[in-house]
Amino acid sequence: MKSPVVLTGGTGYLGAHILNQLLEKGYEVRLTSRNPEKTKNEAWIKELISKYTDKLSFFAADLEEKGSFDEAMIGAKGVIHTASPFKIEGIKDAKKELIDPAVNGTENVLNSVDKNGSIEKVVLTSSMASVYGDAIDIELHSEEVFNETHWNTSSSIKHQPYSFSKVSAERAAWSINSNKPWKLITINPGFILGPSLTKRSDSTSIKFMVDMLNGKFKTGVPNLYFAVVDVRDVAAAHIAALEAENASGRYICCNATKSILEIAKELRLQAPDRTNKIPTRQLPNWLAYIFAPLLAGFSWNYLKKNLGIPVRGDNAKIRKELGVEFRQFSDTLLAHAEQVKKDGLLKQ
Ligand code: NAP
Repeated sequence: MKSPVVLTGGTGYLGAHILNQLLEKGYEVRLTSRNPEKTKNEAWIKELISKYTDKLSFFAADLEEKGSFDEAMIGAKGVIHTASPFKIEGIKDAKKELIDPAVNGTENVLNSVDKNGSIEKVVLTSSMASVYGDAIDIELHSEEVFNETHWNTSSSIKHQPYSFSKVSAERAAWSINSNKPWKLITINPGFILGPSLTKRSDSTSIKFMVDMLNGKFKTGVPNLYFAVVDVRDVAAAHIAALEAENASGRYICCNATKSILEIAKELRLQAPDRTNKIPTRQLPNWLAYIFAPLLAGFSWNYLKKNLGIPVRGDNAKIRKELGVEFRQFSDTLLAHAEQVKKDGLLKQ
């Protein structure tokens, strides 16, 4: 067992599930957050604090501050680095809001690992956004499905800056790791959905579900596809990567390919009380060019390279080497819709 484990981003949507599962499995966890005092007062974590008093400790650390992860690393055996902003809409300064925290943050965390001889393995939350930039990128490859040998070469600070932040951070991580004694594994999830343990709504995953159930896309949805995956399965994949001796390299972590309309159709079955809000039709592409930039901040360039092209990821490696099993997508949507309702994130 690679315990103690330093977990960055454990206050976020995905990170909270990783934290919960690590504690359930008996790990000692050092949680880093920008504001531990604030974190300790949140209802969801208070339960974990009282249940796992001796196993959970808190450290203040900021991705942008050099050396700020040093203290948390002393004597730790494993690191799961999840912290990174996940934002697609409303970005004013991509460098400041996305790229710097992702890249400088990864460098900071890994430099602290380097300074500390005790760490054996680092699991980095990358993304399928590091594997491809636009759905049309599949044409760059001989395969019909994205796999772990593919890299996003089409994103930039101007086009798909979030994806650029993820591929730049992952590349930096592999470069720092070369010739180092600690092992690096990356988990590259598709679009994550499923219930949140916190009431936060800043992750694009939560925003998407809230918007779908609040009627934001009632007029219709663009013909866009996601490779979707359940947040609980992604968390389990991180821990499997930490534990498996044979784990190596990158792991695409996705379950199924769904269009937004297919997600909406399934959601109508799982949230019957919100059917009057959930979209029922797909916008013809010419209308998507008018509505999608206004509704979801998609640029024309993005639409041109993604509309109507299914995004498929090969999950054979993660299933075979890490034994990850993916739950039914209907369970994901049911649990997610129930959670946002229960947590009061929906309009009446
Ligand atoms: P989230 O809920 O917004 O969580 C982001 C986490 O990063 C929070 O814990 C936040 O901590 C931390 N963070 C952000 N900026 C920071 C900074 N400057 N210093 C320290 N911590 C900082 O997002 P999420 O959806 O769970 O995403 C988590 C990870 O999964 C990210 O690496 C993201 O790229 C990756 N991912 C997400 C998806 C998805 O569909 N959600 C898909 C693929 C990959 P604070 O509490 O301090 O704000």
